[in-house]
Amino acid sequence: MSASSPNNGLCAICSDKATGKHYGASSCDGCKGFFRRSVRKNHVYQCRFVRSCHVDKDKRNQCRYCRLKKCFRAGMKKEAVQNERDRISVRRTPYDDQQRNSALSVATLYNADAATKSMLTQITTSDITRKALANVGDICESMKQQVMKMIDWAKLIPPFNEMDTDDKVSLLRSHACEHLLLSLARRSCMYNETLLLSNDTVITRTSLDNEQNKITCRIMDELIQPMRDIQMDESEFACLLAIILFDPSSRNLTISHRIRSLRWQVQVNLEDYINDRQYDSRGRFGEMLLLLQNLQTIAFQVIEQINAYRLYAGLKLDTLLLEMILQGSHFFIICVFSS
Ligand SMILES: [Zn+2]
Ligand SMILES: [Zn+2]
Repeated sequence: MSASSPNNGLCAICSDKATGKHYGASSCDGCKGFFRRSVRKNHVYQCRFVRSCHVDKDKRNQCRYCRLKKCFRAGMKKEAVQNERDRISVRRTPYDDQQRNSALSVATLYNADAATKSMLTQITTSDITRKALANVGDICESMKQQVMKMIDWAKLIPPFNEMDTDDKVSLLRSHACEHLLLSLARRSCMYNETLLLSNDTVITRTSLDNEQNKITCRIMDELIQPMRDIQMDESEFACLLAIILFDPSSRNLTISHRIRSLRWQVQVNLEDYINDRQYDSRGRFGEMLLLLQNLQTIAFQVIEQINAYRLYAGLKLDTLLLEMILQGSHFFIICVFSS
């Protein structure tokens, strides 16, 4: 049997179900994508063993060196990938004009996040138990700090920075609360049953009022736990923040088509990043996107809670928070941008 024979219907590399002949060999979409990324990015892999690892459907992500070798053995050709790229650039998909890859690469997003990440000194788990419990004032203060950081962060993303102020404001306001919550969850990932705010105060499952405790528990159970389960890394986290930011349905947006293609680009880069992981990554991308749904409903609950506090407990909210989180006027945010 020739390795690239398409008639057995199996991938010549990993024996998964083949979806056709790709780059010269009958293969599955996983191996097709792996080969394409490897060639396009000129990856050089190492084998940790003796260059004869077994490549099958379950183990195909374990050794990239041996998988790529098997792709070549099965008949895949580098040139076919390069030709495909030339053809696409002539045909132009709706997204092609946005294919300035590096502007939204995983590395760019990672750097933007790392540069503005809370510069809290590394705290050991024993220290966290001695931190002050946050009251409502601390929560508002910490949210304000995070909003300022979020603005600084977004400015480090080149395509965002090139937009008109109105579009920037529209994007940031649409999901500011989600951005804050996801950052809080990430910051708290290493602590047990404790949320660490950016102003160095903490929240436990029962340290606040009833309704707020429900929110705390949701953050722990529906955000932090799944993030821990998949061991989300910093690059993946940075991409998720960008996917949240580039929402084409944000209110008052004048460039929604462009935002859609920016988001698409981040998604594709994240997908590639995940697929290039050393170990099996199937399902991982989906898990991450599912987090966004929890995030959205929790954010909604937080906003309701803040509104209730303003109405019934006379909570005075900082202008910036009012405009960013509760969608008041946006005079103040414009001032922040032009300063
Ligand atoms: Zn395969
Ligand atoms: Zn190997």
